[in-house]
Amino acid sequence: MANVNENFLNLKNDYLFSTITEKRREFEKNNPDKKVINLGVGDVSLPLAPVVIEAMHKAVDEMSRKETFKGYGIVQGYDFLIDRILDVEYKRRGVSLDKDEVFIAAGSKGDLAGIAELFSEENRVALMNPVYPAYRDANIMLGRNDIVYLKGTEENNFTPELPKEHVDIIYLCSPNNPTGTVLNREQLENWVKYAKENKAIIFYDSVYEIFIEDENIPHSIYEIEGAKEVAIEFRSYSKLAGFTGVRCSFAVVPKELKVYRKDGEEIGLNALWRRRQSTKFGAASYITQRAAEAVYTEEGQKQIRENIKYYKENAKYIKDELEKIGFITYGGVNSPYIWLKLPNGIDSWRFFNKLLNEIAVVGTPGVGFGEAGEGFFRLTAFSSKEDTKEAVNRIVKLFGIIIDLRKGDYIR
Ligand SMILES: *Cc1c(COP(=O)(O)O)cnc(C)c1O
Repeated sequence: MANVNENFLNLKNDYLFSTITEKRREFEKNNPDKKVINLGVGDVSLPLAPVVIEAMHKAVDEMSRKETFKGYGIVQGYDFLIDRILDVEYKRRGVSLDKDEVFIAAGSKGDLAGIAELFSEENRVALMNPVYPAYRDANIMLGRNDIVYLKGTEENNFTPELPKEHVDIIYLCSPNNPTGTVLNREQLENWVKYAKENKAIIFYDSVYEIFIEDENIPHSIYEIEGAKEVAIEFRSYSKLAGFTGVRCSFAVVPKELKVYRKDGEEIGLNALWRRRQSTKFGAASYITQRAAEAVYTEEGQKQIRENIKYYKENAKYIKDELEKIGFITYGGVNSPYIWLKLPNGIDSWRFFNKLLNEIAVVGTPGVGFGEAGEGFFRLTAFSSKEDTKEAVNRIVKLFGIIIDLRKGDYIR
């Protein structure tokens, strides 16, 4: 009898995005004359930079000739890309890494889930709450149900305190999805210290690193002394250069990182991850890696930063205009996400329904990212400039200058 892996039955149904789509479809059916604007998307919308397209065309041409054709690649990734990463992403920030500490992959999502396989089922995981749901689900699939949630609140600026209890694995996401907040140097130092004391490992998801503009915010966890002994860093070209449909990313697994056998013997994580990847992952395509390499040319940097600037202007518009009418917002500065505080008494699904039904604007209810997200709402900067303005203007018109959230006033 083919028995099911019952861990999969412990997953909660992923209602969030399917419910949103369903509600939107229903509204569109009943209101064919209204234009729905989506500020809920967590996907980029601008096309790839011209240098990237050019590099991909060139790589395709190489594939068409016997002399330059490429078959299976090296699982770790091609040197031409790893060298650029070491230089631009790390060396220029004072971090030195070896080539064999960087692993190219086809998106961070798979890595963030896959890395959890290297740890004992009994290990205790800590996740931020609200949180990117894939971390939780990947761990539940592995039978790890003992999850400690670190609550993000307004008081801690959605950057949770250290756990009171012992945990073995910590997922940190900064700049954060969904709250748009960032961990500063001191907070990262505290996490590194905690991890060292607890022999824990930090999975540092910084796929939104390119959005950091605040000079005091570290771009890599390895800017913190000692972090190489306790942290794995995940970066992706998805948000950095609009590769959500191309698929390219990298993970840094320093050789100093150790896990332990029950008897205390140390095992190097770098070699273990390489072994895992060579069995389960077939390398990112040559064409994709050439595309990522092009991001690091001078022209490439200029072009991708143009796109980031475009999204950041959207974020600023959303944040500024909503604050003008009294909303309290988090994020939106070092991040494409704006985390909107809702007035007292309005839950996030009710707010969702109000925006959809009254002004045809879609966002994401905070509770979809965990119960600590209740009372908040995520808006994203990934739509077009025109749509972003139109949506924000509709919200402003709907609420007017009537709310003083600090006093907890109610929206009419
Ligand atoms: C988008 C996203 C990722 C990864 O996306 P990939 O396309 O798989 O690289 C990882 N973490 C968070 C928080 C994200 O929002």
